[in-house]
Amino acid sequence: MTRITVAKGDGIGPEIMDATLRIIMAAGAKIEIDEIEVGEKVYLAGNTSGIAPEAWDIIRRNKVFLKAPITTPQGGGYKSLNVTTRKFLGLYANIRPCRSLHPFVETKYPNMDVVIVRENEEDLYAGIEHQQTDEVVQCLKLISRPGCEKIIRYAFEYARQQKRKKVTCFTKDNIMKQTDGLFHKVFDEIAKEYPDIENEHWIIDIGAAKLSDTPEAFDVVVMPNLYGDILSDIAAQISGSVGLAGSANIGEECAMFEAIHGSAPRRAGQNLANPSGLLQGAVMMLNHIGQTDVAERVQNAWLKTIEDGLHTYDIYTEGMSKQKLGTREFADAVIANLGEKPRQLQPVNYGNSSALKLPKYKRAAPRKKELLGVDLFVHWRGESADELAVLMQKLNSAQAKLTMITNRGIKVWPEGFKETFCTDHWRCRFKHPNGSVMEAQEIPRLLQQAISEKIDIVKTENLYAFDGEPAFSLGQGQ
Ligand code: NAD
Repeated sequence: MTRITVAKGDGIGPEIMDATLRIIMAAGAKIEIDEIEVGEKVYLAGNTSGIAPEAWDIIRRNKVFLKAPITTPQGGGYKSLNVTTRKFLGLYANIRPCRSLHPFVETKYPNMDVVIVRENEEDLYAGIEHQQTDEVVQCLKLISRPGCEKIIRYAFEYARQQKRKKVTCFTKDNIMKQTDGLFHKVFDEIAKEYPDIENEHWIIDIGAAKLSDTPEAFDVVVMPNLYGDILSDIAAQISGSVGLAGSANIGEECAMFEAIHGSAPRRAGQNLANPSGLLQGAVMMLNHIGQTDVAERVQNAWLKTIEDGLHTYDIYTEGMSKQKLGTREFADAVIANLGEKPRQLQPVNYGNSSALKLPKYKRAAPRKKELLGVDLFVHWRGESADELAVLMQKLNSAQAKLTMITNRGIKVWPEGFKETFCTDHWRCRFKHPNGSVMEAQEIPRLLQQAISEKIDIVKTENLYAFDGEPAFSLGQGQ
């Protein structure tokens, strides 16, 4: 018997959760349920996180959480509970299988069977944003080695457990050489540990084009958070419908399972919604807690129901579908099919699909880190980079000399183009004049002097070399 936490959520949430729980209990799930309240009511009661502190205690104690979609109220101040839950509980891996159900659910891709493995905690989703000048705002993209190692290892372990043949990595490391570059590098390192699984890397733009045109070319695809967010919805949609996909959010301690769609408030309370997405989440949950036999019974009965043409309104098509069912009636049909297997669609046989145990991340020995210079970001309303250079050169010393100015990454001094459009946000790079290591005291000295010269420094970034390798981007055109 496993104790799990359940939240019925908002909108169509309660209806699809009731249907899902009814199906899995009828299939013999050995679970006990603690129900918690999250979402709109909690938000509107004045709790900006959408969840009460006592509910966290239950989630953390039970470690397994089945969550229906919730409505995040519009307007400022309300934090997305999904994002908060993923981060608080360290749910670093988001797993979203997207498989077509051709010919029973319309899709252009009859043979699609892709699993998107999305990094779930970092990247631009760290949510570290600042306005720095009148004209420029910034969002920090953070990619960490442990973050990359955990998600990429998860993708390979998942592929091995699920007997899949290939893991593909998507990044944009031709542009983001440090952040996406690290993700790609770690992918290449870890791939070597899995010689039994094919691996490949695609630049995300052409990879995304290929995925949406020829999804059969992919098997397991791993990527950083933002790309994964976008591509997992596309993959689910082209496999048939976002209403059919579930996802698992997996951490070292806890896991959360859900449908990928939202609370569809306009469909709420009408016995219309398709419970399949949440049911798919529940099937992943059953596998996770080792109740594989129940997961198989549910999934095969669900496939049989889809194959029988018993469809909710969202996937109902004249000619292919036999009967349009409501949420409750669809659940009844799946329950009636428990013990049956699909005839045309491939029945599932999960084998061992229980929670993956990954080795703990081991921090490597520190590398030799040397300060080579500093970028001073300046809020300046002038137009000519040459003029700014004259001003900034007043900060030059024997240890630190202005070597470059960029505007939104493009070199504008020395030898800029007059055509380059400039905002009020300038990066001024100071380095040791003969390329050697710069002393740390130079940074406060530069800042102090900038204040004396009435130069508005909005932030600094230190320029380091690790083991002798410069580890920062050059200016575009440098
Ligand atoms: P949505 O996914 O709720 O609905 C979009 C449309 O898809 C609906 O109007 C409906 O036509 C259809 N649809 C979605 N799920 C369906 C189902 N199970 N059966 C049949 N049709 C279905 O997206 P939205 O309208 O952008 O968002 C509504 C609310 O949901 C927002 O408050 C949003 O913040 C929230 N949301 C929550 C989650 C979550 O809790 N995980 C995810 C996404 C959106």
